[in-house]
Amino acid sequence: MFLRLQTILIISGQFWKVNKLKEQELFFFHELSPGSCFFLPRGAFIYNTLKAFIQEEYHRHGFTEVISPNIYSSCLWEMSGHWQHYHEKMFSFQVEKEIFALKPMNCPGHCLIFDHRPRSWRELPLRLADFGVLHRNEFSGTLTGLSRVRRFEQDDAHIFCMVEQVDEEISECLDFVRSVYGVFGFSFQYILSTRPEKFLGDLHLWNQAEKQLECCLNAFDEQWRLSAGDGAFYGPKIDIEIKDALGRYHQCATIQLDFQLPIQFNLAYVSKDGTNESRPVIIHRAVLGSLERMVAILAEDYAGKW
Ligand SMILES: [Zn+2]
Repeated sequence: MFLRLQTILIISGQFWKVNKLKEQELFFFHELSPGSCFFLPRGAFIYNTLKAFIQEEYHRHGFTEVISPNIYSSCLWEMSGHWQHYHEKMFSFQVEKEIFALKPMNCPGHCLIFDHRPRSWRELPLRLADFGVLHRNEFSGTLTGLSRVRRFEQDDAHIFCMVEQVDEEISECLDFVRSVYGVFGFSFQYILSTRPEKFLGDLHLWNQAEKQLECCLNAFDEQWRLSAGDGAFYGPKIDIEIKDALGRYHQCATIQLDFQLPIQFNLAYVSKDGTNESRPVIIHRAVLGSLERMVAILAEDYAGKW
């Protein structure tokens, strides 16, 4: 009886929330652009406020913003490995006999930024943040409101650092996430995702990266769990999942350690001893994750009381 009453309350609460959100005129979807959201003035205000909040935090945490292209030649995607491992999720098209694609991630573009001139160890860690618009070709059947879309922005950043700086950078990323989620009052959990079946690079580097993330999590003094085989194709990751008002978990923040992309792009910096042989490591990280999904979670969590 109690359970039934609870279910009725949850369903009627949901119904009320959906109506309430509709009344608020935040956003809508149109069949002429499935999976891409139209944010109305109030929705755009919330979206931009989230962005401004993170931009302010960037100053405190030593990140600088860049703006990078949306379309790249398939040559770039072949270099990064996306063409071989991520092709089915990319929108590609022909421009003057060459195949181009809309970016599903910012990382390869940031590698070009790192590599556009010689780099010195003195510049590291280099923390590049980008709110670039990303497109991923999700099947139309899997598109669900704001939580799975084709067009989105992330509070995305890439940290180019020396191997010996990795532990400190990961710990700072974990701190960054905890302080931002504390502001929203979220409950959340940490998950370590390890090597998937389809992976890039050699086993030794994967093991090293997985061990390093595990050590950082242990030192961080928070509960975490393992999700074997769920890492990105280029490296293991720590995902942070937010618990919503109904007790469901949503993956938002991510911290990924990547030894592969610097190899693919042959990235190097001049080390302390003056040789140009040293290879940086890349840490991919997002705190809010997709801004679209974050708006959906906040709408649910605050029940429209912004
Ligand atoms: Zn990335």
